[in-house]
Amino acid sequence: MSCVEPIAPGTLIQYWLGELDPQQEEGVERHLLGCASCSSELQQWVELGAALRALARSGAVATVVSGEFVARIARRGLRVREYRVPCNGSVHCTVAPDDDVLISRLAAPLAGVVRLDLIAADEGAAAATRLTDIPFRADAGEVVLVPPIERIRALPPSTSRMRLVAVDDGRERVLGEYAFIHRPWGTHWG
Ligand SMILES: [Zn+2]
Repeated sequence: MSCVEPIAPGTLIQYWLGELDPQQEEGVERHLLGCASCSSELQQWVELGAALRALARSGAVATVVSGEFVARIARRGLRVREYRVPCNGSVHCTVAPDDDVLISRLAAPLAGVVRLDLIAADEGAAAATRLTDIPFRADAGEVVLVPPIERIRALPPSTSRMRLVAVDDGRERVLGEYAFIHRPWGTHWG
């Protein structure tokens, strides 16, 4: 299943967004009708787009994703801003106006962990948010998160903190703490 003259990704996206002029749109539609390869490509964009919109809107502190998901969005040419935070470390972070996706990688020793919780709090927040029983791979050595980018973009200069906690038989053990020292785009940490 391949296409000798695939529709350019940019054109497919414009088609999906309804931004093509009627003549171009008709051309794309005709091609898609006869081309399983480009149709499948479009379908993948639609699914990914829906997932990304849901992530961007999500009110949660972050959504846990797989490394595979990150690779997939990078392959699609989206602008990804990624921060790796060492275990018990901190990172200076921001969001550019044209960033599509924000990714945080929290390094943590996950071997032997049965249940993993994530606790997050923005600076000055009345209460922390706890995500219980988040998915993880024991051998990954990290948890990959997608924070809701629109909410982060709107944050004032502030420090958010996250904590990964292993829960086993009612006992809790802190695996790592992480600080995100945020500044709006174009300002400085000083
Ligand atoms: Zn095609």
